[in-house]
Amino acid sequence: MEIRDDVRFKGINPFDKKIWLSSPTMHGEEQKWINDAFEKNWITTAGENINVIEKEVADYIGRKCAVALSCGTAALHLAIKLAAEKLYGMPKAGHGSLEGKKVFCSDMTFDATLNGVLYENGEPIFIDTEYDSWNMDPVALEKAFEMYPEVKLIVVAHLYGSPAKVEEIRKIADEHGALIIEDAAESFGATVNGVQTGCFGDYSIISFNGNKIITGSSGGMLLCDDEEDANKIRKWSTQSREEAPWYQHEELGYNYRMSNIIAGVVRGQLPHLEEHIANKMRIYERYKDGLKDLPIKMNPFLPNTEPNYWLSCLLIDKEAMCETVRGEKKAIYNFESGKSCPTEILEALSAFNTEGRPVWKPMHMQPLYRMHEFITSTGTGRARSNAYIKEKGMVDVGEDIFTRGLCLPSDNKMSVEQQNVIIDIICKCFS
Ligand SMILES: *Cc1c(COP(=O)(O)O)cnc(C)c1O
Repeated sequence: MEIRDDVRFKGINPFDKKIWLSSPTMHGEEQKWINDAFEKNWITTAGENINVIEKEVADYIGRKCAVALSCGTAALHLAIKLAAEKLYGMPKAGHGSLEGKKVFCSDMTFDATLNGVLYENGEPIFIDTEYDSWNMDPVALEKAFEMYPEVKLIVVAHLYGSPAKVEEIRKIADEHGALIIEDAAESFGATVNGVQTGCFGDYSIISFNGNKIITGSSGGMLLCDDEEDANKIRKWSTQSREEAPWYQHEELGYNYRMSNIIAGVVRGQLPHLEEHIANKMRIYERYKDGLKDLPIKMNPFLPNTEPNYWLSCLLIDKEAMCETVRGEKKAIYNFESGKSCPTEILEALSAFNTEGRPVWKPMHMQPLYRMHEFITSTGTGRARSNAYIKEKGMVDVGEDIFTRGLCLPSDNKMSVEQQNVIIDIICKCFS
């Protein structure tokens, strides 16, 4: 209420219907393939929709195999477990496949990127972010290998649809005989030098969560090039049943397979992927143009890449940040004319019935991971506190982007007029 009473916002009315950050955009064909599953009574974790989308997604991305799973997090778990078993062998029952092993992980990301490392009892070491793409910094990764040459696994994400420097990261991985898990959950359809994200990991994953570029309501896929690996993942995801007349188990199993109904939704969405990307690009361009006189920058992408523009984000220039303090769960700021901060903008958007979001809070700042190592391009240290990091003279890029950045409403169904109002609200935050 306070924000709406502010004289700066006079004349702006809240939207009748909420404008979401990124909500599902349905086209009708989804219903057709759901009905098909009903008619054939394949209301289970097997059926034609699953078989078709596995083939279609593998072909689209350019990998030999795709395995349909219940979600991206499950795909990451099994990708990490498969890599771990190749590297370190099969664990004893009750033990994780990464026990006692360090894994280099993206730091500024959704924590699902590395949940699988923890599920397998590994120790994530967080690699700082770089400003060029807002993804893992290859310089910091190189530094990490200088310190821990024994590490054999890297988990790297592409945030907001902008690809990471995966070619550099691949080179570094190869020099150290390390495997890469590529988290392309947010970047389906984005390319690096014309090659789709999802092609750069030894094992890669995408997600069909409700807010992703295309959705199945939920769901995910693991991508790889070896049919034997793909079949192993299919087996693990359906409780690791051996071929026998009874339920025979040699390995630990999971109930991670995708449902044929969800696969029907994905099957109907897939033909619209490029249309969604084109639309998200127009949203990004309109923000870029509409906000060009403000002391902000849009989220970047590398010149040799085509992002999928999943979310438009902005980063406020240092000089234009009003004084702000973020605690563990709350933030406060001082109003200053000509300046703003993510909290003020998010509160203003929310007051007008619009959803924005802070940038992913880096893992090394999370209470869950505070005692884990965090490696930057300029130094290292346990990530005990930001004060410690600063005392050591480290530049903490992830923290800086988290402090100054936010995700803008990027919904496909937002009209140009609505986006113009949103742009107006943001401009007024800086007045
Ligand atoms: C969405 C997302 C995931 C997880 O996918 P789910 O399908 O929701 O389990 C993993 N990593 C990143 C970076 C994501 O954005």
